[in-house]
Amino acid sequence: MYKINEMFETIQGEGVFTGVPAVFVRLQQCPVGCAWCDTKHTWDATPQDETTFDTVLEKVEDNPQWCSASAADVVQRYQAQGYTAKHIVITGGEPCIYNLHALTEAFEAIGCRCQIETSGTYPVQATENTWVTVSPKVAMKGKLPVIDSALLRANEIKHPVATMKDIDNLDELITRVDLPVSTEIALQPISQKQRATELCIEVCVKRNWRLSIQTHKYLSIA
Ligand code: SF4
Repeated sequence: MYKINEMFETIQGEGVFTGVPAVFVRLQQCPVGCAWCDTKHTWDATPQDETTFDTVLEKVEDNPQWCSASAADVVQRYQAQGYTAKHIVITGGEPCIYNLHALTEAFEAIGCRCQIETSGTYPVQATENTWVTVSPKVAMKGKLPVIDSALLRANEIKHPVATMKDIDNLDELITRVDLPVSTEIALQPISQKQRATELCIEVCVKRNWRLSIQTHKYLSIA
């Protein structure tokens, strides 16, 4: 069973799939502990916050309420909502604390494509066709290391950047593993800070990497 914090249809705002209509499935719980996390309400799953899938679907603002659901339940709700987006973004929280094989298989069985957004601190358990976006979270409060198998499974490494130290951390990670040449590397300024954005642009141009901007934050959409 998965703990679901929210499910909604929108546009993917960042990374390779920027601009693609998508249904976001946000899973509850994350032990990583990033200081600047914008989904802190997903960190814990306390019993008193357990609710129904209907309540989760009706959410209009962020809160820690969650419901328990199987892969079949989630897909059935996706269909009942009448969503038209075929791109499914499984995010969190940290989605890879769950085995995502059943969920990604169930969505693929109805013709959807799945994308996982993960911190790279847990093994990725999903179908082969799932697009994996690793946004490595290095030296955070939870003290969880970014693991090699997650970096090697990544189709895209989208690195959050505030200062040059973050670029150094990324260099350390990508030199540690023999990344496939097909892995997309993108830098994403943290919290739309101007200095971070300038630094990302400078390094992306030098190294021929992508710049990932959180366009949904500029547009004020979910
Ligand atoms: S990994 Fe993601 S959900 Fe977890 S603390 Fe960091 S930013 Fe927040």
